[in-house]
Amino acid sequence: MDFLEVMYPVFLMCIPIILIMAIGIAFTALWLKLMDKNIRACPECGRKAAGTIIETEEEMLSNYVDHKRYNSVRVKKTKVTDHYKCDFCGYIWTRSFNRVEPISTKRLSRVKKDAE
Ligand SMILES: [Zn+2]
Repeated sequence: MDFLEVMYPVFLMCIPIILIMAIGIAFTALWLKLMDKNIRACPECGRKAAGTIIETEEEMLSNYVDHKRYNSVRVKKTKVTDHYKCDFCGYIWTRSFNRVEPISTKRLSRVKKDAE
């Protein structure tokens, strides 16, 4: 039996899996695009995907070390404010969200050890 003959049914079985994955990725991409369009919708004229970020502000909310986790992690919380400007009517609005960034303290503890 030829190697390709053995692989053929395996390859056939892989096709639906690859197809399902491709459809999943396509749907996720579409959904993200739709979300982005809604986020950038102008509140004044109602046009979708009209906003362009003209400025981004970052404000530090907190910066602490979380010891509850197995590896203690520094958690940085920032408030991000995006300033949008409508491409059609020029209306300016802001949208803000909180960003939580866990930063590993492994490197920090190594620095501490070196200092000792
Ligand atoms: Zn507008």
